[in-house]
This record gives sequence, C-alpha cells and structure tokens, in this order.
Amino acid sequence: MTSEKLTEIYQLLLERFGPQHWWPGETQFEIIVGAILAQNTNWTNVEKAIANLKSADVLSPEKLHNIEVSQLAELIRPAGYYNIKAKRLKSFVSWLCENYDGKLTELENVDTERLRAELLGIKGVGRETADSILLYAIDRPIFVVDAYTARVAVRHGLIEPEADYEQLRDLFQSNLPQDVQLFNEYHALLVRVGKEFCRPKARCAGCPLEKLPHSVGD
Ligand code: SF4
Repeated sequence: MTSEKLTEIYQLLLERFGPQHWWPGETQFEIIVGAILAQNTNWTNVEKAIANLKSADVLSPEKLHNIEVSQLAELIRPAGYYNIKAKRLKSFVSWLCENYDGKLTELENVDTERLRAELLGIKGVGRETADSILLYAIDRPIFVVDAYTARVAVRHGLIEPEADYEQLRDLFQSNLPQDVQLFNEYHALLVRVGKEFCRPKARCAGCPLEKLPHSVGD
C-alpha cells in the first residue's frame, strides 16, 4: 500500500516536472564538494564557489588537502558560512587522504553501511550531506531526506509529523526498489514540488499531487 502510494507520487511528479538532471557536477569530487557547500545556501552561490575553486585550480582531493584553510575559505566565500565550510572540506579530504590514499575510486569496494558510518564520522558531515554524497557521487541506493521530503510525506499521511530523519529514509528505502536512478530522481522531484507548491504554507491548487488525499493542517 505504502509502496503503491510512493510510486504514484513519483509518477505524478515525473509526469509534471520531467527529469531534474541532478546532481550537476563534472566529476565525482565536484559533486561531493557541492554537497558540502550546499548546506544553508542556494545553488547559485555554490556554483560561484566551485567556479572559484576551478579558477584557482584546486578542485582535487590532493590540492584541497594541501591548501591553507584560510585561502580555501576565501575561495568559497560566495557559498556562505565559508570558514565553517572550509573546515568541513578539509575534514573530508583529510579523511579521504588518510584512509583511501586520496582516491575516490578506493571507495568503490567499501560496503555502503560502513561508508555511511565513516562519512557521518567526519566533523560537520550530517546525514543529508552524507547521503547526498553516497547517492549522487558514489551511486549507492541511499534515499536522501530533507525538509521537503518530510513535508510532503507528512501532509500525504505517509508518516507521523514526529518522524525523524532515519524513519523518513526508511519509509522510502523500504518501500521502493533499491534503484540509484529512482532515488536520484525522486529526491530531486520532491525538492522541486517542495519549492514550488509544498511550501510551509501549502499551495495545493495546481500541485501535481493535488488529486491525492492530503491534509495541510492550516
Ligand atoms: S502542496 Fe498540497 S497537494 Fe502538493 S504536495 Fe503539498 S500537500 Fe500535497
């Protein structure tokens, strides 16, 4: 029943919005850097920060490992919270360099749950960031959860409002095929509907999910 509902939501969103082509990035490493920079800012600002890293020719694990944290902070300034995010990037590349010789290819043989636990052990890497890295950069079937996911799921009676991140992730992961491309597209579509319709004050009229049972509580 839940899986049917989740599949119907997906199909309605895909029919309306089409593929979202996430995650923009020329390389695996660029996607990871984007995931770390994307916290609490919009994508345009992330793009500016990544463009700066490219212009300075430091967008690789080794170069970010060697750059001074203050210089890195200056380069990623457009992304906001740049001092904190510079430290987070440094923590990520330190982990990669110390444990995997600085090579993302070395992660290919690491079990998904172990990799997730290791990513969550990196200072400043929270669940949404770790799962974005796993799904969008490393092609693991992990469902990424955010505030949009929670809002749609709660308003459509799929989960209780008190549900935490892991319960939301389990809702999607346990009721859908373990398909990286499906999880990729589904998360992107939830972000789209959350931005355009399922805002804090819902705009159900015209929403692709309008015909499904829902309750916005206002
Ligand atoms: S805006 Fe309304 S119809 Fe659309 S997803 Fe939110 S609750 Fe559902």
